[in-house]
Amino acid sequence: MSRSDLSTAIRIGVWEAHSRKCAYCGEIIPFLALEIDHIIPEHLAESPAKLSAVLWDLNLSSNFDLNDLGNLLPSHKYCNSRKGGDAFPKSTALFSLAMAAKKATQAHLLAEAAMRRARTDRLLGSLQVALETGDLSQGQVLAIVRRVESGEDAFEIFQEIHFSNRLVAGMLRREDTEGLLDEPLLPRQHGLDRLIMVRPRELFTGYWPVRTCREWAEAISAGYYARSTYDIKEEAFFKKAYALVRAFSVARVADTSFVGPPHAGIGAIDMLPVTLLPYLSGDTERELAALHGAGVSIGDLVRQGEAKVTDLSPHHLSITFRSMGKAFWDVMHADLNDDGVEDMLVSTYQWSVGGTHGFGDLVVLTRKDAQAKFEIVSADALLPRQNRD
Ligand SMILES: [Zn+2]
Repeated sequence: MSRSDLSTAIRIGVWEAHSRKCAYCGEIIPFLALEIDHIIPEHLAESPAKLSAVLWDLNLSSNFDLNDLGNLLPSHKYCNSRKGGDAFPKSTALFSLAMAAKKATQAHLLAEAAMRRARTDRLLGSLQVALETGDLSQGQVLAIVRRVESGEDAFEIFQEIHFSNRLVAGMLRREDTEGLLDEPLLPRQHGLDRLIMVRPRELFTGYWPVRTCREWAEAISAGYYARSTYDIKEEAFFKKAYALVRAFSVARVADTSFVGPPHAGIGAIDMLPVTLLPYLSGDTERELAALHGAGVSIGDLVRQGEAKVTDLSPHHLSITFRSMGKAFWDVMHADLNDDGVEDMLVSTYQWSVGGTHGFGDLVVLTRKDAQAKFEIVSADALLPRQNRD
């Protein structure tokens, strides 16, 4: 076994699963400088007795595959060779193995996605030839391209979605999300065991208990809504999970992107419109719209002390504004409205500071070019239509 035995897809998978960073120094590795480090060195394969002693010492199965994703980490050549010969501390090895194991599934999915991309590229090349030689008509080519595009794309979700019996996270394909509408979201460990939806005219007589996204969407379409403070809070999870499934049904790989690394994430407050800030009254809503019209960003209000960032990480932002708080979670990036430009699906939750009010919503953000600020795209298509009769 040698380093060259690892396919490019596997190398990309490992590299991307670890955010393209060196496992030892934490710095970004350019792809051309990428080394894939075998935590348990490959050369031990040539000394079976030594290898089995190492495996035994690390509590690993005797048939542990040294090329398994659980043994691979991305690293710089320098950082990787620092480890040197065959003597390496057990604690370091265990730590590295745990690090690799944690990302192994994601690396596998990313490697598959890389392979699909390569296959798609080759296919598109062949189609171009077939088109030029007249072997296929333009209509036939388009139909094939659409099928490839719609069936083979995988997208990463940056937030874990907790269903009653399972956790949804990482790289997903559309088919992975299809069954989710019928997966119960409740009961969870804490909170309600079901959502109670009511209808205005039936406050005391009719109610619709809801556990799955499909039931929730049906209730919404029939004019029911969550009324109690607890139900309204819990409904945020239904909205998020439902919108995710809907987003996957329309998501395409974008031709261009100005969101997320290396561009602007949800924490780029100078690019975020003030109309994203939380409000309760129509007066504040109009005030924010006017500020937005004047080109004021959330960043401007933060510097003026009007708004405050209370939490910030690559895919999460939390803000307080007057007596309200609002959290934003970046859920996924994909072209969600078929304009070729990558959009961000963002779930939000706003609450009144010191109060009981709180509710969740979805917003789609996009940037049309490298100079543009974020703009809000309607997320209506991702949520069920409320039928108020
Ligand atoms: Zn390094």
